[in-house]
This record gives sequence, C-alpha cells and structure tokens, in this order.
Amino acid sequence: MPFSPLDPQRRVAFISMHGCPVARLGERETGGMNVFLLQTAKELGKRGLSVDVYTRYHDPSDPQVIELGPNSRVIHVRAGPYFEEKGSLYWYLPQFIRNVMCYSSAEQLEYQLVHSHYWLSGRAGMFLAKQWQVPHVASFHTLASLKQQAYVGAPEPEMRAGAERKIMEAAELVLAYSDHERDAMARLYDVARPRIEVLPAGVDTDVFRPMDREACKRELGLEGKKVVLYVGRVEPIKGLDLLLNAVTSIEDRRDLKLVMVGGKEGEPEVVRLKARIQEMGLAEMVWFVGPVKQERLPTFYNAAEALVLPSHYESFGLVALEALACGTPVVASRVGGLPTFLKDGETGYLVPWRSPDSFADRLEVLLTHAALRESMGRAGRQKALSLGWDRLAERLEGKYSSLLSPLLPAAAGS
Ligand code: UDP
Repeated sequence: MPFSPLDPQRRVAFISMHGCPVARLGERETGGMNVFLLQTAKELGKRGLSVDVYTRYHDPSDPQVIELGPNSRVIHVRAGPYFEEKGSLYWYLPQFIRNVMCYSSAEQLEYQLVHSHYWLSGRAGMFLAKQWQVPHVASFHTLASLKQQAYVGAPEPEMRAGAERKIMEAAELVLAYSDHERDAMARLYDVARPRIEVLPAGVDTDVFRPMDREACKRELGLEGKKVVLYVGRVEPIKGLDLLLNAVTSIEDRRDLKLVMVGGKEGEPEVVRLKARIQEMGLAEMVWFVGPVKQERLPTFYNAAEALVLPSHYESFGLVALEALACGTPVVASRVGGLPTFLKDGETGYLVPWRSPDSFADRLEVLLTHAALRESMGRAGRQKALSLGWDRLAERLEGKYSSLLSPLLPAAAGS
C-alpha cells in the first residue's frame, strides 16, 4: 500500500555522508551512487514524499540546504575538513551523526524512515534509526567483499566488511542492485534472502536519447572517426589498461579514436594512465577529455560506435545503461550487475575473459557492421525504457510502505 498523500509522517532521511547528489561527476570519488541519490530523491519527492539527503559539507561554497525539486533537498552538515578523502571519513562519523541530529531537532524534523547509502552511512543510519525508532533501509552501492574479489587497487579498509555485516544484520531491509549482489549478500554476509530486495538503478531516457550520430561527431570534432568511448571514473577497478591493450589489438586502426571521459587532471591514476598512453604511442588515437557534465554526455554516447566498459567489477554500471538509452551498443566485462540489463549478442557483448583480444574482437565486429550496431542500438533503447527512475522510485516507495504499513495506525486494518 503506498503512503497516503496526507500522511504527516511521509518524511524520509537519506543518509549519505560522502556521496553528495549535487557533486561534480566523473572525478575519483563521484559516480553512480551520487546519480542514484539525486534521481531517487527527486522522483520520490515528485511522488509526494519529503526526502532530505544528509551529506557532509565537502565544498565551502555550497549552501547548507539545496533544493533538488519538489519535496526533496540536500542538507549539508559539518563532518571533518571540507576536502577530506573518503578513506579518512570514518573518524568523523560521530560528528556527522551529531550534526544530523542537531539539525533535525533544531528544525523539528521527524522522519518516518532512514535510508542509508554506502557502509559509512550505514553505520550512521543504524544509529539514527535506533535513536528515532524508525525502520532502516540500507543500500551499499558496492560491497567490500566483492571489490576485494576483483583484486585490484588499494585494499579496502579492514573494518569495512565487518561494518557491512553489522549493518545488514541490523537493517529492516537491505537493497541490492542485482541478483548477483543479493547472492553475495546471502553467501558472504549470511543475510536471509527475504530481507534483501533487488532494486536496479535507472536512467533518464529523456536526457539519454538517440540523436543524429553524424551531427554529434561533428559537434565534437570527430567527423570521419570510428569512435570507441569510455565514460567513468579513472580508477584501477575500471580496467583501463586492458582497454588500451584492446584498442592496439584492433587490426584496422585507421580512423579509430578512443575517447575517454572522466578523471580529473592531477588524480594519480589519471597521471599514470596518460603516461601509459604516451609510452604505448597512442597519444594520437586517444582523446582524454576529463570530466564532462551529465547533460553533455548524450552527445558523446551518440557520437560513438560503441561504449566499452572493461571493469574488473561493477555493482551496476550506469554508464552502460546510459549508452543503451542513446542507442549505442556496449562491450563490457561480464561482471557484477551488468548482465542484468546488458544482453550478450542483443544489446552489445559481455566478455567473460580479461583478455584484450576478446574485447578487440567484439569491438571489431561492431565497428565493421553498421546494421548490427543499429539493431543492437534499438534493442538497447527498448531495454533502457523499462528502467526509468520514475518506475524505480515507485518500487522503492512500495518497499518503504511494506515496512511502514504495520506501524501506521491507518494501515492496521488494511
Ligand atoms: N559521469 C558524468 N560525467 C563524467 C563521468 C561520469 O556525469 O565525466 C556520470 C555518468 O553519467 C554515470 C556516473 O557518472 O551516471 C557513473 O556511474 P557508474 O555506475 O557507471 O560508475 P561508478 O562511478 O558508480 O563506478
């Protein structure tokens, strides 16, 4: 049963200590989770729920409160120095929790439900839900155990997996992006399956839409080029060395352009990758664009013959869905949540081996078969249309309601 529209208790606190929904995307610590927060808060707000997203001040120029849309807003509270890295934030959790409580009580805000995002915020969410005596819904966005199994990058903090386990034990409901993630939660964290719901991420199919490919190429100065596109953070988990090796394995490299979007100048992994590009003699072929605002991304997706995502692990992989929504086929590793919406041979290719030749092989097929690209593009767009954020918000509201119904007097007899 959905919340009744006049229920005075329709107020939900999103707890997201480090992931601000309005942060600039494409940098080292911003990505899919920020998009998920922004879109679900906005859509729930449109449905009449009041959603307050509590996050830490990360930029002194931000106001304390930013409206996202009807009934949804971001509330910044102090927790540690502004530009602190995610890895050090654990120590500021008590300050964050204290300041969320101070703000909400000063403003006389009463929440009916807490929804936390990521393990750090899950710890805060556990505490706040207990204080406010309301149910706690926990989303993790990535799991330490699964990232660790991918064996790349810096090791996760030791305490993380243990904290995730405690949060899963305490939360009334745990959300997973995919069956793959749900299985991992059950298997690696011993969570009873009925306490886990699968709720995928979504895509804005009005923003991410098919456009004239040639016009997009022209706009980006890519006329006459065959474009292989990467969009995302520049981090070891994204498998970008494999991507560089894959493009050099493509036999016919005339007119080939690898366009890489994301990764801020000066980030250690960006510096390393750029040096690698020079070493491999690929400077001519690779356009390293840096972070691009989301509203400009459809031009990039539409200018491309294929998006490639060679990640070691992806809990969902929003960029792949955004490319499909634009009618661009995707070549991606068969990992994490990607197979839930990416169908091998239908909307692109899923590559099970971490081999540059396998990626090159699939890319070559797409680069040389326009009709195949078009039919895959159409199938991709169709798939994306079934994953609008509005539908996901509707399902999320349903999950909240199922937790709250037994507690609401109005629902007692229903
Ligand atoms: N993104 C962006 N600009 C960039 C790079 C990425 O707006 O320069 C957005 C992209 O549209 C997507 C998100 O950042 O919505 C990345 O999400 P994804 O799930 O693919 O990766 P994550 O960062 O969560 O690993």
